[in-house]
Amino acid sequence: MNLFEMSQIPMKAAIKAMKLDPSAAAIIENPERTLEVSIPVKMDDGTVKVFIGYRSQHSTVMGPAKGGVRYHPNVCLDEVKTLAMWMTTKCAIAGLPYGGGKGGIIVDPAKLSRGELERLTRGWIDKVAPIIGEKKDIPAPDMNTNAQIMGWMMDEYSKITGQFEPGFITGKAICVGGSLGRTAATGRGVMTAAMEALKVKKINPKKATCAVQGFGNVGSWTAKLIHDQGVTIVAISDVYGAIYSDKGIDPYELAKHVAKTGSVTKFKGTKAISNEELLEAKVDLLCPCAMEGQITGANAAKLNAKVICEGANGPTTPDADAILDKKGIFVVPDILANGGGVTVSYFEWVQNLYRYFWTEEEVIDKQVALMRKAFKEVYDASKEYKVDMRVGAYISAIGRINEAMKIRGMYDPK
Ligand code: GLU
Repeated sequence: MNLFEMSQIPMKAAIKAMKLDPSAAAIIENPERTLEVSIPVKMDDGTVKVFIGYRSQHSTVMGPAKGGVRYHPNVCLDEVKTLAMWMTTKCAIAGLPYGGGKGGIIVDPAKLSRGELERLTRGWIDKVAPIIGEKKDIPAPDMNTNAQIMGWMMDEYSKITGQFEPGFITGKAICVGGSLGRTAATGRGVMTAAMEALKVKKINPKKATCAVQGFGNVGSWTAKLIHDQGVTIVAISDVYGAIYSDKGIDPYELAKHVAKTGSVTKFKGTKAISNEELLEAKVDLLCPCAMEGQITGANAAKLNAKVICEGANGPTTPDADAILDKKGIFVVPDILANGGGVTVSYFEWVQNLYRYFWTEEEVIDKQVALMRKAFKEVYDASKEYKVDMRVGAYISAIGRINEAMKIRGMYDPK
């Protein structure tokens, strides 16, 4: 089963539970448009290399498509289509006036020079320009893309249209229209969702322990902000390895160590553990903030966390979900837990549209309020329909999208 087929399982469970009209289900199950492009790039050695890129727009029912662009060797059509669908549901759960989209390029950016990376980035924009724009489809950062890459994209797109185009892209640097609070936003959302989940499970954060898988943008901010809530972070990992200390790891000190050495490994006062040991650690809270497919049918039974809060997109496979549910582990699904990034992207876009900028405090207050409301709606849906939080999240999202499809006359309800 590929990722797209796998991602349909909880969606189909939601469609069944809410008795969605089959016409509405048929529309929602398929992306509206997916574009594959070839991007020729002049390499530093004088040769031309052609890279494959994508942009998938899963839905524009609720507003323009919205979602990041990923640079990774494993990017493929199925992954981009799946991630675009997750963006549609993520935006609908948060109540944002957006559909969902996602882009990607098959590339290991670490193997390119800065110049090659810039030319590749501009090349992707040139090829997808006809289908993107402030009112059509708004890209943002995702895995291995950042504010610098968004800056090149903004510059290239502004050249194409001949106008200053900050609102066509989010996750930018502050000097070109970025929003305060955007860098930490996904981590802040994961923290907010995790704190709500601890409340449900009646766990005191001050006495709780946590393991975080991944120490990129999402993992590092998740660890820092959860640490700020008084939770003891006992384990953290990155692609090079995992570390453990029952006395607690200070993520701020760890970030300095990573800046110096390039990895979380060998951090003072910690012992090396394996990725499996991190996932199986006896903790109150586990935050997978790395890649897809980390918690699977093969390891789910061995997990010991009481709450899992998904910072990554798609870290848990459907067969693992069934096992976690049986074990009574409370899972806050990705499309709810990591919606903080796109929520603050929305705030950035709004600020760009009216050229008026908010303080960091305003951004944070609005984000936290919005995410707590989304959590409550999903939790209530899961109770009402007697389903887990993931299916509850789809019910909440599809309910909103369905109303808009009906009003727009996309199908005739029976
Ligand atoms: N890439 C992030 C996500 O998966 C953020 C998307 C956005 O800000 O549009 O949610």
